Amino acid sequence: MADSYSYACKDYPGMEGCPGKVTASTEDEVVKLMELHAVVAHGEDPSSWTEEDRAFLGSLIKQD
Ligand SMILES: [Zn+2]
Repeated sequence: MADSYSYACKDYPGMEGCPGKVTASTEDEVVKLMELHAVVAHGEDPSSWTEEDRAFLGSLIKQD
């Protein structure tokens, strides 16, 4: 079993300049932290994300 999961914002196309990275022990927590980062750092509204957006974001989560 993996020890942790992480998401690096710079892996998202167009976000190469963002240093934001979140790490947590579960994938669900990473998704929550990723949403918080998107709101605070990028002024996004996660409730407007489509299933496709979320599937793509999920594919960027790495197991460490
Ligand atoms: Zn970011």
